[in-house]
Amino acid sequence: MEKLKKLHTFSLWERPLAGLLKEILAKEGIACLVRNENLFAAMGEIPLIECYPELWVIDDETLPRAKLLLDGWLKNSSLDATPWVCPDCHERLDGHFGACWSCGRQRE
Ligand SMILES: [Zn+2]
Repeated sequence: MEKLKKLHTFSLWERPLAGLLKEILAKEGIACLVRNENLFAAMGEIPLIECYPELWVIDDETLPRAKLLLDGWLKNSSLDATPWVCPDCHERLDGHFGACWSCGRQRE
């Protein structure tokens, strides 16, 4: 049985990351969904805490692997803030990205 499991809650300012990580995990074969993506539409109508973007895995069996990938990604992304260029697809990336948002390659 597939079961939804919450993987991570993002800060409000990390909202763009939620969609990015969803893409990266999808490329690893882990299906995810983002809740509370439309923050500003909802703000004022529900308590702020419920507006935090959340990343959920669709199948709870993928949760341990998803957590590993996410932790690695978040750790990498806080190491170095210099912009870099993806060696695979030559996309220019901001320093806070630990992996290429275009092709998903991890930063070296
Ligand atoms: Zn790339």
